[in-house]
Amino acid sequence: MRVYLDNSATTPVAPEVLEAMLPYFIENMGNAQSVHSFGQRAKAALESARRQVAGLIGASPTEIVFVSGGTEADNMAIRGVAEASRDVGRHIITTQIEHPAVLATCEELEREGFRVTFLPVSSRGLVDLDELRAAVCDETILVSIMHANNEIGVIQPIEKVAEVVAEARASGARRLLLHSDAVQSVGKIRVDVNELGVDLLSVSAHKIHGPKGVGCLYVRKGTRLTKLMYGGHHERDRRPGTENIPAIVGFGRAAEMAADQLDSRARLTSELRDYLERQIMERARNVRINGDAAYRLPNVSNMSFAGVDGESLLIALDLKGVAVSTGSACASGSLEPSHVLKALGLDRAVIRGSLRFSLSAFNTREEIDFAISTLAGTIARLEEMSADQ
Ligand code: PLP
Repeated sequence: MRVYLDNSATTPVAPEVLEAMLPYFIENMGNAQSVHSFGQRAKAALESARRQVAGLIGASPTEIVFVSGGTEADNMAIRGVAEASRDVGRHIITTQIEHPAVLATCEELEREGFRVTFLPVSSRGLVDLDELRAAVCDETILVSIMHANNEIGVIQPIEKVAEVVAEARASGARRLLLHSDAVQSVGKIRVDVNELGVDLLSVSAHKIHGPKGVGCLYVRKGTRLTKLMYGGHHERDRRPGTENIPAIVGFGRAAEMAADQLDSRARLTSELRDYLERQIMERARNVRINGDAAYRLPNVSNMSFAGVDGESLLIALDLKGVAVSTGSACASGSLEPSHVLKALGLDRAVIRGSLRFSLSAFNTREEIDFAISTLAGTIARLEEMSADQ
């Protein structure tokens, strides 16, 4: 049996998504900018996908800019605001637990003369709103706080962050904008741009059973944003380049399915996730769950196994057919301990023994049972081995 429990890294494309994409490779291969019927068909598919994606996040279709994925959406939001607002201020606020797409963009802007505040988080992974309030000043042009974290699944109170941003706007920081990286939350929990009160929001298709290499940036109407690339006038002049119609069509279908199945997917994955956690807590000694238990995505569990090396555990599990991850896909493979778990204040040993299990609605109870018995057996063996040393 092969069990895939690394759905925060990427998800399998849903069969319905693939089916929707296929006609756009050969029969309907037109360039959406062309005037002839091939072009018109591609254009119609592009606009239909835009409506589907907008529907998933409560946006208007004209506020959706298709891009190459979450990384580009984050870069576009942060650099786009920085360039557009540098004449009014050069201060950006983000958190210590963002994805590298946000962190590295902010670090680069620091080198270019911007000031960036990286807010700490509590031991459960939550941002403190008073610290945010204290950090905002008249020079602040952007607050970028992720909706759900990719390593621990903790959900930040973005609605409350938006209230702080609104207060700051009313008292001096007039051009202040709010961006949220919602790559992990969209399709897992309800995400509505108006309820959240964001100006910019990043989404990626491959986390919701869509294809890789496509995503979008939600840009609230009227938001000042400098574009990253120059070329044609695609995407309302925000993002040039011939549109990747098959991928965008797949993204649209995946978004539509995620909206239709939001509750059932959340119920299924949280039941399986909770069952996995209960069983592991019963069978293994010294297990802890990292991150806030209440404000957490339904499909993610980050657990630490004391005295066990997470990397060895990951490899041993993989050999037996169970795919999990230590932290994020981007951080694993590097020897650096997870910056997210470090920000929670965890000991190096606890961080070393941590694994992320991330489920999708494609997982079954049989798979989770297999993962539980494999994990329990492997931990017992690794504990014995380290006791012998
Ligand atoms: N932001 C978060 C929170 C993510 O988890 C990821 C992907 O792992 C990204 C951004 C980057 O998205 P993409 O892989 O589409 O570039």
